[in-house]
Amino acid sequence: MLNDTYRHKGLRRQLAALLKEKGITGADVLKAIEAVPRHLFLNSSFIERAYEDIAFPIGSGQTISRPHTVAFQTELLQLKKGEKVLEVGTGSGYQTSVLIEMGVKVYSIERQKALFDTTKTFLPSIGYTSAKLFYGDGYKGLPVFAPFDKIIITAGAPSIPNDLLDQLKVGGIMIIPLGDKVQTMTLLHKTAEKKFEKVEYGEFKFVPLLEDKEWGA
Ligand code: SAM
Repeated sequence: MLNDTYRHKGLRRQLAALLKEKGITGADVLKAIEAVPRHLFLNSSFIERAYEDIAFPIGSGQTISRPHTVAFQTELLQLKKGEKVLEVGTGSGYQTSVLIEMGVKVYSIERQKALFDTTKTFLPSIGYTSAKLFYGDGYKGLPVFAPFDKIIITAGAPSIPNDLLDQLKVGGIMIIPLGDKVQTMTLLHKTAEKKFEKVEYGEFKFVPLLEDKEWGA
């Protein structure tokens, strides 16, 4: 892969070891983190720090999440190979690539046109060709491709979007950071049509999931 050196691979091994220390236990998740060249997703001014556990700006007022957050959300999804996963908030495509490395079929939506355009070209250029990327409002999901085994929301949601719940299979899991300024990482397990169990996992800080009214902003 272009500009992915032994040094970068070494830094990724160290990052995976750090995430293990921070409580990520899934060997498949750590392997996926080790596989994705995060430095290629960043603006050149941040490349040197790509394998630190920090978020960076990616343009359009958005961020690429911390590797720990990406690994944490990925682990909570309890993915099985071949599952159909909806991601809301494609952003840089880093989380999308981690999901692809987990062996699932990814459908991802981004509402910022500039980010969507960049990522749609960038991911195939580094070999991640399988994700289906959409420009649109993630609040509405992708009814045409539903139902999904798993849904991951990578922006802070003020409330649970009902359309997304409807698009989750019975038995499926949605991971959503819920809250305004600070979000509680929340797992929703759909146990029957219109029935959910909820488990909460600590506080995180995300850019907001924006609704229709700010469409195109
Ligand atoms: N998963 C991304 C990555 O790995 O780079 C990080 C995403 S960033 C924390 C959150 C993303 O959600 C932003 O790119 C933002 O534009 C997007 N977003 C916010 N509201 C959205 C909506 N209603 N539909 C789709 N994407 C949305």
